[in-house]
Amino acid sequence: MKFPSEPFKIKVVEPIKRTTREERDRLLREAGYNLFHVPADSVYVDLLTDSGTSAMSDHQWAGLMLGDESYAGSKNYYHLEAVVRSIFGYRHVIPTHQGRMAENLLFSTVVKPGMSVPNNIHFDTTRANVEHQGAEALDLVIKEAYDPHCELPFKGNMDVLRLEETINRVGRERIPLAMVTITNNSGGGQPVSMENIRRTRALLNRYGIPLIFDACRFAENCFFIKERESGYEDTSVREIARELFSYGDGCTMSAKKDGLVNIGGFLGLNDERWTQDITNMLILVEGFPTYGGLAGRDLEAMARGLEEVLDEEYLRFRISQVRYLGELLDNGRVPILKPIGGHAVYLNAKEFLPQIPQDQFPAQALAVALYREFGIRGVEIGTVMFGKRDPVTGGTNYPELELVRLAIPRRVYTNMQITYVAESIADLFTHRDTIGGLVMTYEAPLLRHFTARFEEWAPVVTR
Ligand SMILES: *Cc1c(COP(=O)(O)O)cnc(C)c1O
Repeated sequence: MKFPSEPFKIKVVEPIKRTTREERDRLLREAGYNLFHVPADSVYVDLLTDSGTSAMSDHQWAGLMLGDESYAGSKNYYHLEAVVRSIFGYRHVIPTHQGRMAENLLFSTVVKPGMSVPNNIHFDTTRANVEHQGAEALDLVIKEAYDPHCELPFKGNMDVLRLEETINRVGRERIPLAMVTITNNSGGGQPVSMENIRRTRALLNRYGIPLIFDACRFAENCFFIKERESGYEDTSVREIARELFSYGDGCTMSAKKDGLVNIGGFLGLNDERWTQDITNMLILVEGFPTYGGLAGRDLEAMARGLEEVLDEEYLRFRISQVRYLGELLDNGRVPILKPIGGHAVYLNAKEFLPQIPQDQFPAQALAVALYREFGIRGVEIGTVMFGKRDPVTGGTNYPELELVRLAIPRRVYTNMQITYVAESIADLFTHRDTIGGLVMTYEAPLLRHFTARFEEWAPVVTR
């Protein structure tokens, strides 16, 4: 079946309410046209993020009741440790309250000012955490990743040639580690192939540089390998994951994605010295090493979620639901990023709204219009998120892509709600000439997209 139906049934429901266009218009003005400041209960379908928004299973909820809240040595920690070792294979498991704390602990321990950290594409918190150490975050994904029309099966791949040039240019001693993000979130949720990971590993081995995975969506990446990479069609996703992680020295993980939990993360590491230093820092800023900023019950839900996410019936539905939305839009000629990624569909705002110049934030304007007209919330991934101020000229360096990401929460929305989203966007597309640009009136020095405020460039035309 092309689009398999839901491999679960619903036991608990959470009502969502409809708002009027007038209410949403007022909420937008109050929020400074920043969708992070719109109250969630005024959103009909919330595709802001797939992070921490998953529906837990009955098995995970049951696990919450088995939380062992001992300060030290909670049995739930040992369960998590065993699960992580069995899938990821790393000796040391350091729990954190979410992914960025794993990044912060790792980088504050091993990254020094003036160093460089290559990645296929750094996620925004990863980049910010590298730069916070006074180091440089380098994106070395294959060039095709920036072409929204190029259909490659593994568009998240590292450009191994550029990685080697970079190592030679920067110097091995200034590269404390390299990262590979699976799937490549900022590049459209595109997977990385096993073959590319093997080549990256072989290159890094020649220079003695450790490889750390940003593993947030590892199960989705491994499912794509099974679907698309020859030689893996009969391998289980669990075995694919084990092989993939065997090429790394560790991982940072936000379990809010493929951990199927609402909060949680961890750092997996083999290196004793790094583990010791990071553990000392963990005690200072998060908590004792067997809970790391989480309750015992959270550790249990995470351990169970990591097992469930490898269920291939679940993964087939998950990847297909995202593809279903993408194909409905594509069939309606709505410009989207191709191929369709693992956790989200990305609207190509430059093509959706060619009338809005990049300095008027076309992707933000599109996200605002989608909420105002239909109560659907996506997120801008464009100039607001990545447009960097040039420290010398004060001008903006514009990113190549202006996207609105529609991230699909795991096990949350039915295909009927996904159909509503597709039909709404197709409708908006036919009225696209009524959408105007925005002016930024406030920006913070770091991660500005979370708090930026805007005004409309020209008043919107009422339909
Ligand atoms: C979400 C995410 C992170 C950060 O994780 P948080 O749990 O949000 O702190 C890091 N890298 C990638 C690729 C992500 O998607």
